[in-house]
Amino acid sequence: MSELRFDNQTVVVTGAGGGLGKAYATFFASRGANVVVNDLGGSHKGEGNSSRAADVVVDEIRAAGGKAVANYDSVENGEAIIDTAIKAFGRVDILLNNAGILRDVSFKNMKDQDWELIYKVHTYGAYKCARAAWPHFRKQKYGRIINTASAAGLFGNFGQTNYSAAKLGQVGFTETLAKEGAKYNILVNVIAPIAASRMTETILPPEVLENLKPDWVVPLVAALVHSSNTSETGGIFEVGGGHIAKLRWERSKGALLKTDASLTPGAILQKWNDVNDFSQPSYPTGPADFLGLLEEGQKLPSAPK
Ligand code: NAD
Repeated sequence: MSELRFDNQTVVVTGAGGGLGKAYATFFASRGANVVVNDLGGSHKGEGNSSRAADVVVDEIRAAGGKAVANYDSVENGEAIIDTAIKAFGRVDILLNNAGILRDVSFKNMKDQDWELIYKVHTYGAYKCARAAWPHFRKQKYGRIINTASAAGLFGNFGQTNYSAAKLGQVGFTETLAKEGAKYNILVNVIAPIAASRMTETILPPEVLENLKPDWVVPLVAALVHSSNTSETGGIFEVGGGHIAKLRWERSKGALLKTDASLTPGAILQKWNDVNDFSQPSYPTGPADFLGLLEEGQKLPSAPK
């Protein structure tokens, strides 16, 4: 099998000074891409900044014969990051929204600053970078975006209300971008990775971390953003340690009650088993699915098409 290549394409990797971002950057450069290595170079809690993190990765890529430029802006300044790609390489094809920080604290002790910083880097940052790349993608009728969620966002995790909210936000962001981008051949997927990095090195034991190299997340991302992927979009993928799986929403059978005075809290409790019955699940993919259920169950006139 010939290898998937990215020659003449430009990949912007945010937070590429270490961890997963560095693994993406070096991989794409080794497969022929021009790479923008963005990193603010601060601590894992979002304090400080430095050009060193990005520079080290750029030097490494160049030493191996690859093409890369550094950018030291915060992802909050997405225009400047995409500008770096346009100035250095004349185009942008792929955006990997990867930069991230943690401000873990129990909800009782959460400070506004912990909430806001997480929001700024993960939610606003991903938005700003995608927003700046979007006109280029639309114009060239080609674009690929990977956003980065987390198991904490999908399932919740103690001490991470701020991070969970921002990370599940990446899922909704992805789903809508996928729908808006489809017409322009802009495919957008979201991953919930698990990998050894400075984010996880103090949480997981060394023997577990050993099998969780960032390198084992990269191939899925590369497959999703390659031009040979023409249909996989709006997908939510868990990836790490060699395991790759897709997630989706599942809706229970549910209870459809008459919309009259009989619709009381007690009536709902009587149907509680149906509300929780996942033996006949459905898999909704858009807001219209719910209205469809009502139309079907109550024989409502269908909404104007
Ligand atoms: P990491 O700390 O090694 O890498 C994150 C990088 O982002 C750092 O180099 C940091 O300097 C950079 N960064 C932080 N704020 C920035 C900003 N405002 N602008 C530009 N760069 C900034 O961590 P990682 O584990 O490689 O994480 C990468 C992504 O994966 C993050 O979004 C993280 O939330 C997510 N994630 C990681 C795991 C995991 O198991 N490692 C699990 C779930 C989600």
